[in-house]
Amino acid sequence: MSVVRLNEQQSMAVKQTSSPLLVLAGAGSGKTAVITQKIVHLITRCGYQPNQIAAVTFTNKAAKEMKARVGKLLGDSSVKGLIVSTFHNLGLNIIRREHRTIGIRQNFTIFDDQDSLALMRELCKKDVDADKSELIEILNRISAWKNDLKLPDQAIAQAKDNDELLAAKLYEAYTRSLKAYNAVDFDDLILVPTLLFQQNETIREKWHHRIRYLLVDEYQDTNTSQYELVKLLTGKLGNFTVVGDDDQSIYSWRGAQPKNLELLQKDFPNLKVVKLEQNYRSCGRILKSANVLIANNPHLFDKKLWSDKNYGEPIRVLSVKEDNDEAERVVNEILSRRIKQNLKYRDFAILYRGNHQSRLIERALVIKQVPYKVSGSTSFFARAEIKDIMAYLKLLINPDDDNAFIRIANVPRREIGATTLEKLGSYANQRGIGMFAAIFELGLEEHLTGKGLSAVRRFGQLIVKASDNLKRGDTLAVLNELLAYIGYHGYLFETSSSPKAAEYRWSNVAELLKWIEKGIEDNAQAEDPFATTVTKICLREMLDRNSEEESEQNEVQLMTLHASKGLEFPHVYLLGMEEELLPHKSSIEEDNIEEERRLAYVGITRAKETLSIMVAKQRQRYGEMINSVPSRFLEEMPQEDLDWEEDRQQLSDDEKRERGKNNLANLRKMLSS
Ligand code: ATP
Ligand code: MG
Repeated sequence: MSVVRLNEQQSMAVKQTSSPLLVLAGAGSGKTAVITQKIVHLITRCGYQPNQIAAVTFTNKAAKEMKARVGKLLGDSSVKGLIVSTFHNLGLNIIRREHRTIGIRQNFTIFDDQDSLALMRELCKKDVDADKSELIEILNRISAWKNDLKLPDQAIAQAKDNDELLAAKLYEAYTRSLKAYNAVDFDDLILVPTLLFQQNETIREKWHHRIRYLLVDEYQDTNTSQYELVKLLTGKLGNFTVVGDDDQSIYSWRGAQPKNLELLQKDFPNLKVVKLEQNYRSCGRILKSANVLIANNPHLFDKKLWSDKNYGEPIRVLSVKEDNDEAERVVNEILSRRIKQNLKYRDFAILYRGNHQSRLIERALVIKQVPYKVSGSTSFFARAEIKDIMAYLKLLINPDDDNAFIRIANVPRREIGATTLEKLGSYANQRGIGMFAAIFELGLEEHLTGKGLSAVRRFGQLIVKASDNLKRGDTLAVLNELLAYIGYHGYLFETSSSPKAAEYRWSNVAELLKWIEKGIEDNAQAEDPFATTVTKICLREMLDRNSEEESEQNEVQLMTLHASKGLEFPHVYLLGMEEELLPHKSSIEEDNIEEERRLAYVGITRAKETLSIMVAKQRQRYGEMINSVPSRFLEEMPQEDLDWEEDRQQLSDDEKRERGKNNLANLRKMLSS
């Protein structure tokens, strides 16, 4: 990043260090830039050592970028000890250092969602017969309590009905079990340090000494326990700068409290507030559309935002027949615009409301061999079910692939536990062969006996049989037979959070099989089309992993609207601007349109030069084609700046006549009925 010349308000925000500061401003006004510059200012002008400063960002990616920017401005060696991390990482750091006082052993485990679910299932077995969605609901309640700083005894005392009381009691049991397992869960990473600071003054003082100045980006998305942590970390002095935008608060489902912005003024009477008003990111038209849209929400604070960049091209609304066409259209556009306008792949971002929307796009990108990167959430290839099936395929084409073997030896469960795997592994090591090959050696019987031995032998035979069948039969039929034999479908139902989630995961598997089928067709000339296909997909998978490391990769960026917060891209495609997708169905049902509008605002304001909004008329949902209606947000945007384009080639004459009417007239009718 080149050094930007700060405007007057930005400079004020950077230089203001004598009292706590809130920078309140709309998207693209340089809030994050202020944080970066302020770190530099604190080090070069105010005598702070880098290790006395902590900056909190919302994602690891943002943290990495910020540290790199400060490093560039000051030289990498001068930022040693500077903490730039997410709230959760900062919390983890504190727990690691203070584990003795907290009362957990050093090598504690961090429970992920699956671990928490398994524990809750165990706990529930004793009392009630809860199904998976009920377990999740209880865990969500516990999470909300933790984010709200409520401990089990408070939750029990304040329970309003029997359901809540049951959940509160399970919260207590869950907390006790975590302790017994020497584990913390995700919410504990904030809750535990907060409680520690509340209860232990000496430790609090120690950390005040350690962190002399705190900066927080995306402050509008802090929840109660994160805010408490900020207060405890900075103490009465209030040596902090927080920046935020109430219009971009999009994490209410994680307990985010935009009213924390207001609370700051109450809690720190000497708080200074700086507002930034110039947007440096987007063309005038994009900014205007975003402002007009968000004006439909009530506001905590008055904000203005203007841009002196050019007005820019109209915002295109591209209407396509189906979701498949949406994917194809976007990818074709990117391919041709890249060449015509001499752009890089990384100049394009594809944003969507839900993770599941990436699947068709990923397929279209892979087919057209466009390099891409999914950030902030799981790429198709990183999904557990895809990794499982890929591991089976890899093992089938290369029995020496120990990683693949280990991944699926016990998936679905077949009594090959960790000890059995360890013994098999060490025997294979001794013999200098792969684990799969070791299964069939007689010598293994000296190391493994009984159930373990017969379980691995059965597994070995299963793979050998499938591999033989592949040589003779139709590949897809053999793979389907294998999946049926191992009961993978049922396994997904056992391990997913809900039947819906299981169905979705199963449809991912079906999708992968389709890719394989297509790959075999495309590689029909190869000596072994199946092996060639699997190898090619693995290569793509590896690219996926490597690009984590290389942020400068030239790849199309894919991410959810949530994950796009704080980022910017020259050209943005916003997928699925339809009722029930954006705004999302669940938010419509809960009457929480404002949060969805903020999400749309975040999406629109990511674009620097052009914005294209996709609307499909039909979309596949849970196996069915469903008609969809353009989002109400399209109607709320300034019509003079939108350029609706029908995908006429794909319409029949009748449809063309039908669609001849103005889209918006249709939409209005729909909304008023
Ligand atoms: P968001 O609300 O989306 O997080 P933000 O307020 O954090 O946005 P930044 O990402 O800091 O905004 O800045 C937006 C863009 O404007 C960046 O490309 C940044 O480099 C640029 N910018 C910020 N301040 C200035 C300035 N004074 N002069 C020129 N460019 C600037
Ligand atoms: Mg920002």
